[in-house]
Amino acid sequence: MILDLLDNGSSTHTAISAAGGPPVTYAGLRAQVEALVTELNRLGLGRGDRIAMALPNGPEVIASFLAASSVGTAAPLNPAYTRDEFKFYLEDTGARALIVPPAGLAEARAAAGDNVLIVEAGLDAGGQVRLSSKGTAGATRSRDYPKAGDVALILHTSGTTSRPKRVPLSHANLLTSARNVAATYQLTPEDVSLCVMPLFHVHGLVASTLATLFAGGTVVVPPKFNPLSFWPTVRDYRATWYSAVPTIHQVLLSRAKTRPAGAEQLRFIRSCSAALSPQTMADLEERFGIPLLEAYGMTEAAHQMASNPLPPGVRKAGSVGRGTAVEIAILNERGDEMPPGATGEVSIKGANVFGGYEGNSEANAESFSHGWFRTGDQGHLDSQGYLTLVGRIKELINRGGEKISPREIDDTLATHPAVAEAVCFGIPDRVYGEQVAAAVVLDGEASEKDLIAHCRSSLSDFKCPTTIYIVESIPRTATGKIQRRNVAAAIAEGRSA
Ligand code: AMP
Repeated sequence: MILDLLDNGSSTHTAISAAGGPPVTYAGLRAQVEALVTELNRLGLGRGDRIAMALPNGPEVIASFLAASSVGTAAPLNPAYTRDEFKFYLEDTGARALIVPPAGLAEARAAAGDNVLIVEAGLDAGGQVRLSSKGTAGATRSRDYPKAGDVALILHTSGTTSRPKRVPLSHANLLTSARNVAATYQLTPEDVSLCVMPLFHVHGLVASTLATLFAGGTVVVPPKFNPLSFWPTVRDYRATWYSAVPTIHQVLLSRAKTRPAGAEQLRFIRSCSAALSPQTMADLEERFGIPLLEAYGMTEAAHQMASNPLPPGVRKAGSVGRGTAVEIAILNERGDEMPPGATGEVSIKGANVFGGYEGNSEANAESFSHGWFRTGDQGHLDSQGYLTLVGRIKELINRGGEKISPREIDDTLATHPAVAEAVCFGIPDRVYGEQVAAAVVLDGEASEKDLIAHCRSSLSDFKCPTTIYIVESIPRTATGKIQRRNVAAAIAEGRSA
């Protein structure tokens, strides 16, 4: 189970470093997690309970995640969600408790209402994570450590409908994925990972954090990515690698005219969760003088599926590399395996891959064929097994690695009294890769600004459209269907005409 991750860490070695706090050793982390497990049990939480968490990055999340997944199932949520979003996610996961910082997170607290026990997680003067709560969720539960097949983590992925799908990941899925990432980059106890990705997503949680802990190394975890303090942190904490989305790499690139001091310590940089252009990869390697390894991950695979290898292995620009102890096949619509070079749906098998969406037999019937999980991404393999992604079958907007369901935004826009019809789609963006745009038909008075403000009232900022095109009618295909791709193309054409 998840705590086996800590077995390779020497007890006096630093497991977690956070700016401002004392370093946490492996022995210290184990003791903290044990104490948090006892406390959660005392609060009436145990096997089968979903424990939601809305915490900024820091040692509190790592210790709380390890404890919550050892007690029941951890359900990390984005602390930036609005009240409506928190309400949805808390209800959808059936959360019995919500762990929040001692101050703030008013929206999350309000959404929890009377049904979900609020538990505050803070650091005491000695840097120990402490939990406190004004009540309990029930009588004290006895300690009952989980088995490999039990669900350790529940996350959501954006779907084709506006309702996100629940992805249960078992202890075995997470341990396998952490082991695969550690093996791909030959992580050792000497490695220090700088975690700049949010810990409520598998990229930050599994790649930057769990893989490093599995290797017995050190995770440095600032509250969030800060371009100003990034290189000083690399230097001060002697980081040996970091993983991030292309948007973060680009921000760092645009700020560094020469090789930043500290870059020489890094063994490699990893890019994942959104497409990295060959040009950006070349610029990064040249400016920072470090190999840039693009990888491919997704929530349903407990993160990593493929990666380019460390030197002397060959890394190919534009490719996400080879399967990392994950089998990859390209399937056609019938589910037949396609030969190298042919484009089809990227499909995967492996001990890291989840068993199916929770309570969604329709999505499961569509997503699994002959034991393969269909990722919804399109790509092709070359004769050496390197995968290149070329597009998406699933409807998603990938804004700097944050996945947004266009249907959720359509539905929100449609609740505005002046909106007759709304269709959202991704538009290319230099920094984020894609941004959210919408085509809207009005049957009342509203400006672009009003409509964006309406979205902001119930959706997190990152999901809100940045551009809204007010149109006479939504472009349809010859057979009268609305296809987002066609709407985007028709609008781009109309603007350039
Ligand atoms: P998530 O579940 O948020 O990790 O999102 C998974 C999706 O992110 C994948 O199905 C891909 O569509 C996309 N993705 C992940 N890595 C890459 C990559 N290196 N290049 C392009 N898209 C990627």
